[in-house]
Amino acid sequence: MSKRYRFTKQDFEILQNFIDNYVESEEPIDLHKSYRFECSPFDNEIYISNKRVNKTDVQFKKWYEMQPEYTPINITFLSILHEIGHIMTRNQETLDNRDLQENIYNFLEEQKIITNEEHNFAYFSIPCERRATMWGVEFYKDNEELCKQIIEKINLENF
Ligand SMILES: [Zn+2]
Repeated sequence: MSKRYRFTKQDFEILQNFIDNYVESEEPIDLHKSYRFECSPFDNEIYISNKRVNKTDVQFKKWYEMQPEYTPINITFLSILHEIGHIMTRNQETLDNRDLQENIYNFLEEQKIITNEEHNFAYFSIPCERRATMWGVEFYKDNEELCKQIIEKINLENF
């Protein structure tokens, strides 16, 4: 089976149905196509990159493999769960703190005090980011067969 590089309209429909039927959110979560993975937790919107694997995904995978909670999960699928996790674990104060910390890491990288990888590893470890990821890990562990079916249906690479 050949692997597609981009998500299709059908892949988005499969993912939207998966969210509607299996994620126990108080309000509906809308999935959108974007140029990068993103979330707007208080608007219940998540954005999925059409480009499947980029440098940040490689760094995210490397960081995730070092975490004590590590359990093997397709990293693109975990990125999708991570964005949903932002809604499921949302808290304005911790999101504001994240933005503040992100500004500091941006400055440190600009000044060449830290590398891009160090910047991203620090970012993934910010409490609200880490919590969104670990929500995804727990969701996956609780719904492993279902998640594997979705991964198969949307034809994700083994990454
Ligand atoms: Zn995030």
